[in-house]
Amino acid sequence: MKKIEVGLLGATGMVGQRFASLLEDHPWFELRWLAASDRSAGKKYAEACNWRLRKPMPAKVRELVVHECKPGRAPQLIFSSLDSKVAGEIEKEFAAAGHVVVSNSSNYRMEPDVPLLIPEVNPGHLALVRTQRKERAWKGMIVTNPNCTTVGLAMSLAPLERAFGIEKVVMTSMQAVSGAGYPGVPTLDILGNVIPFIKGEEEKVEQETQKLLGRLDGGKIIPGGFIVSAHCNRVLVEDGHTETISVSLGRKAAIEDLIQAWRGFRDLPQERDLPSAPKHPIVVREEPDRPQPKFDVEAEGGMATIVGRVRPCKVLEYKYVALSHNTIRGAAGAALLNAELMKSEGYLD
Ligand code: NAP
Repeated sequence: MKKIEVGLLGATGMVGQRFASLLEDHPWFELRWLAASDRSAGKKYAEACNWRLRKPMPAKVRELVVHECKPGRAPQLIFSSLDSKVAGEIEKEFAAAGHVVVSNSSNYRMEPDVPLLIPEVNPGHLALVRTQRKERAWKGMIVTNPNCTTVGLAMSLAPLERAFGIEKVVMTSMQAVSGAGYPGVPTLDILGNVIPFIKGEEEKVEQETQKLLGRLDGGKIIPGGFIVSAHCNRVLVEDGHTETISVSLGRKAAIEDLIQAWRGFRDLPQERDLPSAPKHPIVVREEPDRPQPKFDVEAEGGMATIVGRVRPCKVLEYKYVALSHNTIRGAAGAALLNAELMKSEGYLD
């Protein structure tokens, strides 16, 4: 198969680097065009980008020149990991010019006609682009993936919602510093500390979870009929957001039933063997002190949600721990899987 040329907005950032790395040997997509701010435009990627990943910068992108974020010469398929302060206008400009924008940024996630996707959880919501096409005069489209904290929560809740229904959820996060981009949180603010506030994060997690676990009906998403309360904290971990979650289910279930629901969880990405799909979207750890970001965050190439410590909760019904990689499953890997789903559904032909 001839590879599809792709472009990347926000190529120099934390998530942009993950994209460049994950696209290095991608069987379907070839990264050919990069863009970032005026600070980087005109420079070669190797010069413009302060590479922060352990895996070296792919040789193929080192010499590519970073462009301004303007449509025109860019490939039709565009991944975006732009700073949300600028993503709104720039992504709109690309979509209007006919590009398919697969975005990480928060700007369009909650727009009623924009799909917010986790391909294992709600692949059918992709059909919302039909509404988008009717309502906007764009020749292209925008499709989004959730916030990096939402993803572990929604992935771990989806099998429970399908099997038993969900009534109430309380989630407390311990979020990695890489989630704040680069250079991110100053050392003196985070060293030996916990920061109990991440602007806008709790609202995003609560709303996005309801949209993801909602139902597409007549061209609209009917949000999930449960309530979510989120507490979000920044901690001194490099990669991986850990979440402690309490949940009330719609009907009685034993702990073994929850474990079975997680272990059996599969959907279109696994059935179609999409290139970035984890074989096991949810990995269940049985040790009493796992998952931990240091040991578990790379499971399934960073694309799994790892759960453990499921036990009864005296306030809600059950409680457990979930972990997911914030720049892979929570960002670049999520968008890649979205684009693979779009390709397999014929949206990129
Ligand atoms: P980052 O490291 O700060 O990178 C931001 C990128 O945006 C850089 O490429 C930067 O280019 C570019 N940019 C900034 N101002 C610009 C402007 N005026 N015009 C054009 N480009 C501009 O941030 P990040 O962590 O990669 O996050 C990127 C996006 O993904 C954000 O919307 C974030 O909320 C979202 N996200 C992040 C994570 C995570 O775990 N980090 C997870 C999910 C979603 P220069 O280098 O040239 O300044």
